[in-house]
Amino acid sequence: MKNMFEKITAAPADPILGLTDDFKADPRTHKINLGVGIYKNEAGNTPILATVKKAEAILLAQETTKSYLGIPGTPEYGLAVQQLLFGADSTLIAEKRIQTAQAPGGTGALRVAAEFIKRQLGDVTVWISNPTWANHHGVFGAAGLDTKTYGYYNAQTKDIDFDATIVDLNQAKSGDVVLLHGCCHNPTGIDPTNTQWQTLAKLCLDKGLLPMFDFAYQGFARGVEEDAQGLRIFADQVPELLVASSFSKNFGLYNERVGAFTLVAKNAEQAIISFSQVKSIARVIYSNPPAHGAAIVTQILNDAVLRAEWEQEVADMRDRIQEMRVLFVATLKQCGVDADFSFIERQNGMFSFSGLNKDQVNRLRNEFAIYIVGSGRISVAGMTKSNMLPLCKGIAAVL
Ligand code: PLP
Repeated sequence: MKNMFEKITAAPADPILGLTDDFKADPRTHKINLGVGIYKNEAGNTPILATVKKAEAILLAQETTKSYLGIPGTPEYGLAVQQLLFGADSTLIAEKRIQTAQAPGGTGALRVAAEFIKRQLGDVTVWISNPTWANHHGVFGAAGLDTKTYGYYNAQTKDIDFDATIVDLNQAKSGDVVLLHGCCHNPTGIDPTNTQWQTLAKLCLDKGLLPMFDFAYQGFARGVEEDAQGLRIFADQVPELLVASSFSKNFGLYNERVGAFTLVAKNAEQAIISFSQVKSIARVIYSNPPAHGAAIVTQILNDAVLRAEWEQEVADMRDRIQEMRVLFVATLKQCGVDADFSFIERQNGMFSFSGLNKDQVNRLRNEFAIYIVGSGRISVAGMTKSNMLPLCKGIAAVL
């Protein structure tokens, strides 16, 4: 028989997950991983949240079947997601303008969104911030969509380049989609202010652009409610929007693949019709979603005691990362670094753009076993009190 796989050439390793493989294979015991965006506690572990363990115990006792879920998952999960995104008393929910499909992680939700855009909205362009999460262009490109970038980051000021954002988005055509990071912009850690969110929402409204939020870090910037402000500002102004949200980080449910694709339409009827297309997309990709992770999230969000405890757990993760930001800046100074790194303290979430170049990133890896993504993005969540000094000494040596 003819060998059909002979012609296949190797795909490039994923820039972030490939780094994790290299890190795991590195025999040096003092190695430090600031690559992938996974929360680590002070001991360098990614523990299961206490509320997740409690919810799982309840589910184990109460679960009666492993039968399939419906294509969009359970209605209870959908409602819990909507309330978390838009607020428990959101008029959008009351007016039935929202529909949610449980999806396999934030990535699964983005992929469903991409397919929905391609099939139902046609050959529009998806505008993506520069820089962005490495997978965005891939996910939208996989659906056959054209992507373009809008300016977002000013490397000199280490802040948002909002003028560039506006100039570039003014080039977008009516019907195009604008992808926004709900909070904790990945990789820069810089989010728009409320005034900037207002300006962006008005721009989308005036130009007829469809906003699409990628919301993977709710609770990691300032608080679960506070972090939804940008999304809610938009929801107040525009008639239609899309959201791909993820519970990988804020529930620590990385490997359970829990996410959601949420659609807001102008009215209940359009929401139902549009959502019927979302269901037919999910049906041919994964048929129906995995149940366990979403059941955990539903259990926690619908139980007042567990929910309060979960919010505290999110606050603890957020506070530890913030503490590491402050300690990082102070320790760099202590290691004789003159360059101003204070911007790290002002940024949100797991990531910051360190400003380290490719050569410096390579030297850190080769000489100090410190793993950072090639773009210079650092995952602050990988820092601990005990790895801080060797980390900062390494950085001081390559600067
Ligand atoms: N969107 C952004 C901005 C992310 O950083 C990530 C994960 O790192 C995702 C989406 C995907 O999340 P999930 O792991 O739930 O697929």
